[in-house]
This record gives sequence, structure tokens and C-alpha cells, in this order.
Amino acid sequence: MTLVIDRLTKTYANGVKALSNVTLTIEPGMFGLLGPNGAGKSTLMRTIATLQPPDSGSVRFGDIDVLAQPERLREVLGYLPQEFGLYPNMPADAILDHFATLKGVTAAGERRDLVTSLLSQVNLYDVRKKSVGGYSGGMKQRLGIAIALIGRPKLLIVDEPTAGLDPTERNRFLNLLADIGEDVVVILSTHIVEDVRELCSQMAIINKGEVVVQGVPGRIIDEVRGHIWRRTIPRSQTDAYRSQYQVISTKLLAGDTVLQVYAESDPGDGFASVEPNLEDVYFHRLAAVSGGHVPAEA
Ligand code: ADP
Repeated sequence: MTLVIDRLTKTYANGVKALSNVTLTIEPGMFGLLGPNGAGKSTLMRTIATLQPPDSGSVRFGDIDVLAQPERLREVLGYLPQEFGLYPNMPADAILDHFATLKGVTAAGERRDLVTSLLSQVNLYDVRKKSVGGYSGGMKQRLGIAIALIGRPKLLIVDEPTAGLDPTERNRFLNLLADIGEDVVVILSTHIVEDVRELCSQMAIINKGEVVVQGVPGRIIDEVRGHIWRRTIPRSQTDAYRSQYQVISTKLLAGDTVLQVYAESDPGDGFASVEPNLEDVYFHRLAAVSGGHVPAEA
């Protein structure tokens, strides 16, 4: 089933325009929604998950009109919000059993098999009897995914799941998502470029409530090939270069600044062409919509 988001717009009561004509078509597979904090990712995720209405626009998932038929969408939805609470004194198997009952898996034997298979899938079977209050951040996130997977969702939404995870836990979590199934639409919202680069077959970048680019990561990178240039300059000259070039990133190296810029053609001036990556695209696109100012990253 395909998720079709058409011209979604949302302005909060305080005047913040969180979504502005967001239009996206998302096929089964892993979709990375990348954007800085405040871009509108959570607003978009909550809207698709039927938790808050937009001002205008539409969302369709297969033949489901999501805004008009929220109960139909919820039957096929798994949603892992940015923050969720777990009963700290309960063990993982009891929590999953509880949520499976709520989801309508009433036969005890069926529920036991389901809980066992979910615990194995998210690699928590060995710690299933431990209270989740003692779980690490990564373990809690994996339990959250297990809960979201009860009922075999066709649409799985995970909002900033890797924030705060160490690299090992992050990888483990992303691999779990990647294994979920080819016929499921998995939307991963994140501000971490590597999350998308490694696993997503489709992606979009959003900023200030607007989609700035969408497509296949490799093709999006191809669009900037031949336009990314690098040189090392004394740190004191960084501001001067910023005013002259479209700087997309700066990194400090042994006291100097390694400058990466976007330019249509060879800027000369000691710059050398570099092979682009998704991070270059990300900072180039953010710079393009914010008039040359990019968030400092180094
Ligand atoms: P992201 O998930 O990309 O960080 P959000 O969707 O959380 O972005 O927020 C987008 C913008 O909307 C931000 O400026 C945020 O402060 C604002 N915002 C989010 N939720 C609310 C709300 N309930 N009321 C008012 N403003 C909100």
C-alpha cells in the first residue's frame, strides 16, 4: 500500500506554521524523513498517525482516507512516538502481553506465541523477565518497536528513535527496522543524516515545515556531484570565506578550518572537487532555503 500525503498544512494556535503544503508519496520500504529540530517532523508524524488534525490537505493510505477514517488507519498502524512511558516495575513479557490483549489478541496461547516471537525479533527474549525500569535506552526503544508491531502493521511510524542511543544500540535498532518487511511502509523521522544514508530506500528533507527535496538517496546525491568543493584555510579567515561562498560545512582540523562549499563551477582559489555525500546535500539544501546560513556543526 502506498501512503500519499497531499498539501498538508498546519499552523498552531501560537502562530507557528509547522507544515506548509507538505506533499509526499511513500512506497513500501524504509522512508527517511530528515530535518533539523523544529522542522515539523513530529507534527507530520502525529498527523499521519491520526493524533492531530491538519488545517488542510489530505492523507491516503491505500484505499483509506486517513483523516476521514482514522479508525481504519489505526487498524494497520504501528506508531512509536518520540517519547513514551513504560510501566517501570513490569517485565517486558508482561507489558507485551498487556498490549496484545488491548489489541484484541484474546486467546491465551496465541498471545503467548506472539509475545515470544516479538521478544525474539527485538532481541529481548533473554531479559524478558526483568523490570523495564532497568533497561537501557536502546532496550526501551526495541520494546517500543515490539509493542508497535503487535497486530502486524502495514504502516510503521517511528519518530526520532535513535536520539540518545550510543552507536551500537543505534545500529542494532536501525537493523531491526530494516528487517521489518518489504511490504510495510516504515517512516523513520530523524535529524541524524547517517540514519537515512545507511538504510533508507526513499527519503525527504524537510525544513521549516516545507519539503525541500525528496527521492532516492543515491539520486539526490548525484544532483550535487561536481558542485562540492573543499579547501583548508586558517581559522581566522572562516568568516571572510563565509561571505564569499555558499559554505555548507566547516570542520576544525589541527587548528585550521576545512571548508566545504557548494559552487556551480570550479571556484579556483585552491579549492578541490570532492565526492559528495548525503550530509553535503543536507547542509546545501538547508543553506539554500535559509539564505546561506547553515547550522554550525563542527
Ligand atoms: P520536529 O519534530 O521536526 O522537531 P515539530 O513538529 O515538533 O518539529 O515542531 C515544528 C514547529 O512547531 C516548532 O517550531 C515547534 O516549536 C512548533 N510546535 C510543535 N508542537 C506545537 C504545539 N503543540 N503548539 C505550538 N507549537 C508547536
